[in-house]
Amino acid sequence: MPRLFIMLVVAAVTATASAQPLIHVRLSADHARILAVRLERIGYDVLEGGVSDRAIEMIVSDEELAALRAAGYAVEVIAKSRPFRDIQEERNAAAPDVPSGYLTLPEIITLMNTTAATYPSICKVVDLTTKYGTPAAANGNHLYALKISDNVAADEDEPAFLLVACHHAREVNSVVVAFEAVTRLTSGYGSNPAITDLVNKYEIWVIPVANPDGYDYMFNINNNWRKNRRPNPGGSFGVDQNRNYPIGWTASCAGSTTPSSDTYKGPSAGSEPETQTIIAFSNDRHLTKVHDIHSYGRETLYSYLCLSYPFTTFMGQQAAALSTAAGYSGAIRAPSAEGEEEEWQMAKRGSLAFLTEVGTEFQPTYASAQAEAAQVWGGVQWLLQRPITIAGHVRNAYTGQPVVANITYQGVTFSNGETNFSEPRFGRYHCFLPAGSYTIQFSAAGYISQNKLVTATTNTEQTFEIQLVPVCYPDCNGDGVLGLADFGCFQTKFALNDPYADCNGDGVLGLADFGCFQTKFALGCP
Ligand SMILES: [Zn+2]
Repeated sequence: MPRLFIMLVVAAVTATASAQPLIHVRLSADHARILAVRLERIGYDVLEGGVSDRAIEMIVSDEELAALRAAGYAVEVIAKSRPFRDIQEERNAAAPDVPSGYLTLPEIITLMNTTAATYPSICKVVDLTTKYGTPAAANGNHLYALKISDNVAADEDEPAFLLVACHHAREVNSVVVAFEAVTRLTSGYGSNPAITDLVNKYEIWVIPVANPDGYDYMFNINNNWRKNRRPNPGGSFGVDQNRNYPIGWTASCAGSTTPSSDTYKGPSAGSEPETQTIIAFSNDRHLTKVHDIHSYGRETLYSYLCLSYPFTTFMGQQAAALSTAAGYSGAIRAPSAEGEEEEWQMAKRGSLAFLTEVGTEFQPTYASAQAEAAQVWGGVQWLLQRPITIAGHVRNAYTGQPVVANITYQGVTFSNGETNFSEPRFGRYHCFLPAGSYTIQFSAAGYISQNKLVTATTNTEQTFEIQLVPVCYPDCNGDGVLGLADFGCFQTKFALNDPYADCNGDGVLGLADFGCFQTKFALGCP
């Protein structure tokens, strides 16, 4: 077919597609961020950067405008518009290069390695993708972390802190915040007492680029790129990694279901290799505190957007203090959607986890990003220094071995499958609680549950070492002694076909069993 003819056909189709008049509008509403997520999910074209707490800018057709007004929304027409996709593509094409000074992905990995080589006793590089056997990102990139701690080669019984940046590729200034922390923690160790304390007390993990494929593409092809580089059905690319975490993924305010959308949440919860790697790492390290850095907005995000959380007020207070320490005057808001990384850490690990949006643009001059990072370090350090409200270990009372125990709070209801538990390596646990009195329950299969009454205070850390007693079958009634009352208890259990009641396994309950129980009881309970 002659080339000219093809071009005419394309032009004709384009003309038809754009024949429908489009309108740039501003919709005003309370909870505009939640509404924007919902509108985008049902196919509305929400303009990037056009959403605030009380307004949403969109490109709509006449029919969509009529539908919005019929639904009772206050919609103001700003101007006639060109098609949404044209505007987005034009923005991408017109986007300048990344300003000079920022590092490419290979340069970032090199800097991680040279930092570790300079401070080998407190800093090392870990290839998370290899360590956890998770899939590489679509273009083959791995995720790397720097571990900073005293005795860095050892796996120490210390709380873990994660600073993670660049889930969104174009947010290059977030990477500068990550390296600012790395520089201060490594160069300050041994000379700055506050930093020395933190490096001694914590295992600190820094992931400068959580989205290496997207970062590489952003740096070399399109500096306005946000998502990873998964090839989607229909020819578009990318999943928004910070909508892909398995928390609230099916909620009404989860990310977009449209693959071409900049906030596409992926084909399933946790579908992305990058998400899987960070989850595997988090499962292993049981992170006590997490700070997720994005840009832009100069504010700290906390709790959920549309799901309920019993400690939201407390998390908001903590977020405001973090924001203040970062130089952002206490500015806070709810997350942009459900399925974000910091939400998952809070929900599934009981971590003190927040997201801070730094700066006033994605790619300011490098000098400006450095100045901002120096300021935001105050927030990073604040979170590191924050007391762990209740901390300690859960261990087997007889053997001292660590026990993985579920941790719940009597009278406090979590409604989205939230969990908190002690980790398996050392039995270490953490609870972040608003000031007040709580009955914390520690429970594990094969152990007698234990309630611990605590009074949490705002600015102190309390440690409670929990000794869980294994369920003791010989002490049938659990009174700590073996006596006739236990034999009555065994008779009841035997009648209920409890296999442990027939201690010697001869099919009948008799005096021989009582002798058997005495022997087991004397040995400590099985
Ligand atoms: Zn972001």
